[in-house]
Amino acid sequence: MKACVLNSSAVIESNPLVLTDVPAPEPADNQVLVEVSACGVCRTDLHVIEGELPPRKMPLIPGHQVVGVVKKIGGRVTRFKPGDRVGIAWLHRTCGECEYCLAGKENLCDNAAFTGYTVDGGYAEYALAAEQFTYPIPEGFPDGQAAPLLCAGIIGFRALRISGIERGGRLGFYGFGSAAHIAIQVARHWDIKVYAATRDERHQKLAMELGAEWAGGTLAEPPAKLDAAIVFAPAGEIIPAALGALKKGGTLALAGIHMSPTPPLDYNLLYGERVIRSVANNTRQDGEDFLRIAAEIPIRTQVETYPLSDANRALNHLKNDAIRGSAVLRVNSARG
Ligand SMILES: [Zn+2]
Ligand SMILES: [Zn+2]
Repeated sequence: MKACVLNSSAVIESNPLVLTDVPAPEPADNQVLVEVSACGVCRTDLHVIEGELPPRKMPLIPGHQVVGVVKKIGGRVTRFKPGDRVGIAWLHRTCGECEYCLAGKENLCDNAAFTGYTVDGGYAEYALAAEQFTYPIPEGFPDGQAAPLLCAGIIGFRALRISGIERGGRLGFYGFGSAAHIAIQVARHWDIKVYAATRDERHQKLAMELGAEWAGGTLAEPPAKLDAAIVFAPAGEIIPAALGALKKGGTLALAGIHMSPTPPLDYNLLYGERVIRSVANNTRQDGEDFLRIAAEIPIRTQVETYPLSDANRALNHLKNDAIRGSAVLRVNSARG
């Protein structure tokens, strides 16, 4: 099969992904083999490729927002059959035995595997997933538009939950890329007012088009105090500004898996019972809940598509804020 393979961590400007032929994988007893039609490009892929996340497998096929059709199933698979349209997300497998798994916090599992990081992912013609960590894709989403739901969508949704924002509240978004452009649609559905702070003017414009109350620069002060905020950008220097925009008792949720160091914090920014929480991975329940609500709303993702052979170019564009909405790799003949 064709796959984009990373042989060692490197900056994306050096175009480190190599399109090459590798053997297609075979499903184990509990796995499905998915013929990939689209794979979303996530900022986490950049962190993996550039080595900001410590390498866990090399060579590696990145990609964890996979949409495709089940091609083959393992001997014990019962939830899916060949021909079913499915999605594969970041949380690839959990141990089911650690204290976190037993407490219903599988997103914090001590022994989890992650798609496109600790195991091969979806920048390829085929990818494997355990059936219990595979999602049916709701009808109504073409393959390419469904792909960003699987990480940008699910993680943004978990960040909304972690932020504690309530119906009618005021919510800040810091950074307005793939996850934010989906999360704002959920927030608006819940009658939440969104204030978008982001450095790129095209992203500010997109936020306004999607119903933001206000959009401004990353460190600009929103016109109203916020009940909660979510930092989507991987920049620690945003944290003081975001905290400064919060009401007393407000929560700042940090949605990224990696962030540059946080500058020293003036305690007054945190005092007043403000809370900072990170968002780590997601549970399968988050994924199922989000995909259901995404179909109900329905969410419309804005995607820029690239052929699989252009994965390096897509990631370079992502790094330079040049994507409006989400970047998606088209792999095989995708539906829609
Ligand atoms: Zn576990
Ligand atoms: Zn992701």
